[in-house]
Amino acid sequence: MKIAIIGGGLAGLTAAAYLSKNPETEGTVFERSPQLGGRAFTYEKSGFTLNFGAHAVYGFDRHTLQMMEQELQLHFDSKQVDKRKVVYAKNGVLTPAPLDFVNIMKTDVLTVKEKLRFVAEVAAVIGNVHHLKNYATLGEYLDQAHSSEDVKELWEHLVCSNFFITPEDARQVSGEVIAEYYHNLFLSNRPVNYIIGSWSTITNQLADKIRNNRRWDIAVKEAVEAIDYVDGQFRLKTKTREELIFDQVILAMPIQQAGKLLDSTPWADKLAAYNANSCTEVLVYDVGFNHVVARPFHYISDMDHKVFISDVSATDHTVAPAGGQLLQGIAYLNDTFEDEEQKKRYLDERLQQMEALFDTHYPGWREQAEVKRVSKKAMVSSIKNIHSNQLLPVQLPGTPLFFCGDGCEGKGELAERSFSSGRAAAQRILAERLQLHAVAQ
Ligand SMILES: Cc1cc2nc3c(=O)[nH]c(=O)nc-3n(C[C@H](O)[C@H](O)[C@H](O)COP(=O)(O)OP(=O)(O)OC[C@H]3O[C@@H](n4cnc5c(N)ncnc54)[C@H](O)[C@@H]3O)c2cc1C
Repeated sequence: MKIAIIGGGLAGLTAAAYLSKNPETEGTVFERSPQLGGRAFTYEKSGFTLNFGAHAVYGFDRHTLQMMEQELQLHFDSKQVDKRKVVYAKNGVLTPAPLDFVNIMKTDVLTVKEKLRFVAEVAAVIGNVHHLKNYATLGEYLDQAHSSEDVKELWEHLVCSNFFITPEDARQVSGEVIAEYYHNLFLSNRPVNYIIGSWSTITNQLADKIRNNRRWDIAVKEAVEAIDYVDGQFRLKTKTREELIFDQVILAMPIQQAGKLLDSTPWADKLAAYNANSCTEVLVYDVGFNHVVARPFHYISDMDHKVFISDVSATDHTVAPAGGQLLQGIAYLNDTFEDEEQKKRYLDERLQQMEALFDTHYPGWREQAEVKRVSKKAMVSSIKNIHSNQLLPVQLPGTPLFFCGDGCEGKGELAERSFSSGRAAAQRILAERLQLHAVAQ
């Protein structure tokens, strides 16, 4: 079976690594950029290792990466972000983020009575009996819950930070999605981890597995430009080749890009509903220093402005030159604007709020910055997982197409959904193949 995987990000590389293990498969991963990794691309600048996007692996001991580590024999180290150095800022005051029982007891964002209430809520989520899962959205649950405003704000803020969205969007996330997500996270002994050496530690190993398999190859700088389906076979036209024939295709890219590629095919109608989905975007601000400017904490989340700063190098020392420091700021973004002018003003304002947070906690950072990268709009998740959006199935009914990526149905959020849907797409294709064999025999 000859398989084309279009997209060399986390999802496409995962699907290819699993498929290439089966001796009955051969295939090609097509990636339009010169490098692999997609939005988890890692690059070096003046001795700093910068991630284009993702850093954190949430609920590491219950994450799809754990299965991949065993099933694909991946080797990587990870390190837990020090929970005692994770703080929330509210009304200008810093207090421990209530992420575990010790911090819940220490935090100032809740009163003693509220702490007891919140602990009971956490226990209910862990026990899978929290009412939240029965509500269409977090907003509907919060409107009817008898908790105090502070507990409600805390729920909202947790969802903002784990889903990288604004409070308005947090209220639109389905209760079931949140209950399942926090069931995993609260049960985890390793809630926030970094992969030492960044995502490239994983993407390089996945790519090596594919390249070292003589039946598979990776074609970078080769965008797929058109797909045709004739007599049960796919014909692909790429930037450099006219007609390549495959038995199966996996589209491992954001729906926005898949929609364009499939625009003039008979399947365009089936994708229309998913094309209308909104995505999650954030403002990213990376700053690297040749020495440690200040290290009051390892993560600070500003509850008032929905902006956070991670001291990435405090957890993963490999990302900065010896003795140096790498900070990453992220601001969650609204996506509804009256016009371009309003949008521009909003983004400028978010940039200023971000810089103000750096000013408060890293005095002198502007003069001492060695490396700086600002992206005013980076796509975190290709389909925002809110109630009114619909994640794309891994196998689109009524078509011969498979999909994977962070906009697909799968376990977890963000990068975990890319990994879990990539693994699922590979497993389904192999299962179908086995079924065909059984019928033929
Ligand atoms: C700022 C930021 C912070 C983030 N933080 C986190 C975090 O802390 N934790 C976490 O888990 N996740 C995080 N994420 C999300 C994570 O990076 C993404 O979910 C993940 O990288 C998406 O991978 P993917 O393979 O699904 O898609 P992509 O990375 O988008 O890969 C798709 C690939 O397809 C290629 N492609 C598209 N069209 C074609 C074509 N026609 N032909 C050939 N190739 C094509 C693209 O070039 C791309 O390489 C963050 C993202 C950002 C931007």
